[in-house]
Amino acid sequence: MLSDNNLKTLLNPQPMSDTSKSTSPVGVIDKLSIPLEKESVEQTEVGNYFVANYPPFSFWTPDYRPAVMDVLDGPAPTDTNLGVYFHVPFCRKRCHFCYFRVYTDKNSAEINEYLEAGIREFEMYAKKPYLAGRKPQFVYFGGGTPSYLSVKQLRGLTDKMKDLFPWDETEEVAFEAEPGTLTEKKLDALKDIGVTRLSLGIEAFDDHLLEVNGRAHRSKEAYRALGFAKTLGFDQVNIDLIAGMMDETEDNWKKCVDTAIEQEPDCVTIYQMEIPYNTTIYREMKNSGRISAPVATWPTKRDWVDWAFNRFEEAGYSVSSAYTVVKNPETTKFVYRDSLWEGADLLSAGVASFGHFGGVHYQNQADVDPYNKLVDSGELPIFRAYATSPEERFVREFVLQLKLGRTSMQYFRDKYGVDVAERYATKLAELEAEGYFSTDGDDVVVSRDGMLQIDRLLHGFFLEEHCDARYT
Ligand code: SF4
Repeated sequence: MLSDNNLKTLLNPQPMSDTSKSTSPVGVIDKLSIPLEKESVEQTEVGNYFVANYPPFSFWTPDYRPAVMDVLDGPAPTDTNLGVYFHVPFCRKRCHFCYFRVYTDKNSAEINEYLEAGIREFEMYAKKPYLAGRKPQFVYFGGGTPSYLSVKQLRGLTDKMKDLFPWDETEEVAFEAEPGTLTEKKLDALKDIGVTRLSLGIEAFDDHLLEVNGRAHRSKEAYRALGFAKTLGFDQVNIDLIAGMMDETEDNWKKCVDTAIEQEPDCVTIYQMEIPYNTTIYREMKNSGRISAPVATWPTKRDWVDWAFNRFEEAGYSVSSAYTVVKNPETTKFVYRDSLWEGADLLSAGVASFGHFGGVHYQNQADVDPYNKLVDSGELPIFRAYATSPEERFVREFVLQLKLGRTSMQYFRDKYGVDVAERYATKLAELEAEGYFSTDGDDVVVSRDGMLQIDRLLHGFFLEEHCDARYT
């Protein structure tokens, strides 16, 4: 699911490869009859700009796997929050802009086998001294499409997870859902299981846009899911929107934002469409020799998101990060995001998922078969890892927290002994002169213009050796 977590994207910006069968629609771009054009920095060209984690994933290697084991064999920390993530890599259909590793061809026996492997992975973790007895502060189900699972599969999975890592002290259980997979019965079950934050991957309310971009659901299903969800009283219902999908126009976008406001969600997450390598759209671009993607230019997407933020503010919402607006900032928190951006541990299970223990990042095997085989043989299915230095952890937290639009320099003095104003004096002055950043007392503040292109700006704070790294 392209979703606020998407922040899932924060955890699962996958090495891209279409593992589903026959999911590449021919002629996505030809169909739109968009002419070839000259390269321009304004156009949306292929690549990932979204800063999901740090250091970039291209620095993570299998050589670091022993570092994960060393942490897991050590004592449990007393001052670090723990989150638990489970990845569900199945979808009904592959979206044309999707770069996640998803499967659209698995039957229920194969899905059961995968879930059993996931539970065995959790069992292995529960025996590790670093995790034994710890209770999660937050739980997150991402994908793919977690709501693709049946009620029986969901109950079986979550019952086991709760036995191993009890949820009685958990502040948030977030769950990504594709509207077309939700029935009233499934939503009831999600509420009963303990989901507090339901995130609906709606993306757009226009059926033509949904179809052209390869989404599995249509607007009728989005309205129905929202209606059911509201009656069940989830603590938070989030909807995801994407600015600049193929065939998006300014009128469409404005209607989409106004429709979202009418639906009164607690939280709305807005992404600007990017076209990573190996998406269906990229493959079509490559075949037709195009340089830029058939989607709106970056300035247009920024204008559209700016318009949306203003419209939501007029409707009483507050901008709470570079991607989110919330109806009530006092009650609508995002524990998963905020905790991770302050260095929480994350036990991440399932194929291709990303986790973090005591300063060591790791990612699991990215395909189901090797993942299942490793778990069956009693091994943790970790594919690659990275042991961060204190300086890298500082940079990571600093750049991620800037996405909130404001961060306290005192926090970094206290935690890392780093004076942000001194360390980044030149960079901050440059960004201030450009109107993107300012300081307010002891806070670094990002302007609206800065927020609209935050991922591009954050690369300027990376350590030199990471500046030109590919992000996936
Ligand atoms: S195929 Fe679509 S719904 Fe599935 S993970 Fe990709 S973007 Fe999300």
